[in-house]
Amino acid sequence: MIARPEASVDHIATPLTDARAQLSEAVALLGYPDGLHQMLATPRRELTVAVPLRMDSGESRLYVGHRVQHNFSRGPAKGGLRYAPNVNIDEVRALAMWMTWKCALLDVPYGGAKGGIAIDPREHSKAELERVTRRYTSEILPIIGPERDIPAPDIGTDEQTMAWMMDTYSVASGYTVPGIVTGKPIALGGSLGRASATSRGVTHIALAALRHVGIEPSRSTAAVQGFGKVGADAARFLSEAGVRVAGVSDQYGAVHNAAGLDVEALTDHVRATGSVVGFAGAEPIDGAQLITLKVDLLVPAAVEGVLHESNAGDVRARVIVEGANGPTTPAADAILRERGILVVPDILANAGGVIVSYFEWVQANQAYWWRADEVESRLEERMLNAWQHVLGYAETRGLSLRTAATALAVERVADAHRLRGLYP
Ligand code: GLU
Repeated sequence: MIARPEASVDHIATPLTDARAQLSEAVALLGYPDGLHQMLATPRRELTVAVPLRMDSGESRLYVGHRVQHNFSRGPAKGGLRYAPNVNIDEVRALAMWMTWKCALLDVPYGGAKGGIAIDPREHSKAELERVTRRYTSEILPIIGPERDIPAPDIGTDEQTMAWMMDTYSVASGYTVPGIVTGKPIALGGSLGRASATSRGVTHIALAALRHVGIEPSRSTAAVQGFGKVGADAARFLSEAGVRVAGVSDQYGAVHNAAGLDVEALTDHVRATGSVVGFAGAEPIDGAQLITLKVDLLVPAAVEGVLHESNAGDVRARVIVEGANGPTTPAADAILRERGILVVPDILANAGGVIVSYFEWVQANQAYWWRADEVESRLEERMLNAWQHVLGYAETRGLSLRTAATALAVERVADAHRLRGLYP
C-alpha cells in the first residue's frame, strides 16, 4: 500500500493553512516585510522518503515518511515523529512550524521540525514497527543529529520507538549517541518526568487560566478530548488538583459523569480494554457531545482541527487549554473569542513535552541526570513564566492569547535570524 501524498488545497482549512493564517496575523502585527514573512512561512529543509517494510508474513509494503525542518535560527531543529494513517507533508509542515514557535516561546534553544509516516501502527506487530522505524531512521540519517535535528515521540510513537531510533543512529555512528532523540526510556538516558511532562504542563496552565477567569479549580469541571499520551495524564493531574473531570473521549467514543469520573478506575479500564468505551462509572456519549459539555474547562488533547466553524458556537466551556497541536481552526478561534471563551494556545499549553525534552537533551549531553523534583519544578517555573509573559503581552495590546504567543515567538525567531544575517 502506498500512502496517499496529499496536495495543498488552499481553499480547504488544513493544519498548514491554519498555521500560515496564524503566522500572517502575527507578521501583520509585527509589521514585517514580505521577504521575512516568506522565510518564516517556508520550511528550511524537507525530506520525503520511501519506507519499504518486510511484513512478518514475508510480503513487503511501502510506506511514505517525511521529516520537515522548519527553522534553525535559534538552534537545532526539534520535534516529534508521528505514525498515523493520514500523515501527509502539509500536516508535517504545519506541525514543524508550530514546533518553531513553541520552542521560541518557551525559550528552549531549538528551531522546529516534525516527522511522520503515513502508517497505522495498530495494524502492525512490534517487530514490523521496529523495522519501519529503523528503516525510516536510516533514510533520514543524513539530516538528523544531536546538533542538527532531534526527534521525539508524538501520536503513534513512544519511548520504544525512540530507543530503536537511538540505536539505529548509534550503530551508524559507531558509538552510543543518547542526545539524538528525546523521550527515550529512562534506562537509555531518558529524563525522569518526560513521559508525563506535556500533561503536567497542560495542568499548570489550566489551573492558572481557570484562576485568571475567576474560577477556583477545586470547584470546577472539565472535559478532556483524547485519552492518549497527553489526555490521560492531564485528566489524572486535573482530578488530583481537585477539578471534577466530567467527560473524557477517545477515538472510539466518549463517557460522561456529571459528578466526576474516577480517572484512576477509567485508566485501569482503558489499560484492560484499549478504550474509554464501556466504562462502568459513566454514561456513554458521542465524541461530538464531549466538546459541547457544560464544563468550565475543555482540553482538546487529540488531533488538529477538532474545533471548527461548525461547532465552536456550541462550546459551553469558559476556558479551552490546547493539549493537542492545532485543535482550533482560525474560524473557530474568531467565534470563541467573540463568545468570550478564553483559548490558551497549543504552543504555550502543550509545551511541557518539549521543555522536558530539552532537559533530557541537556542531561544526555552532560551525562548527568536530575532528580524528578528538579525536572518538575523547572518545568513548572518555565510554564508559569511563559503564561505570565503571554498574558501580559496580550492584555497590554488587546490581543488573543494565540496572537500574543505567536507574535512573541515569531519575534524571537526573526530577531535571531536578523542577528545572524543572511548568508551569503
Ligand atoms: N511531539 C511533542 C510536541 O508536539 C514533543 C516534541 C519534542 O519533545 O521534541 O510538542
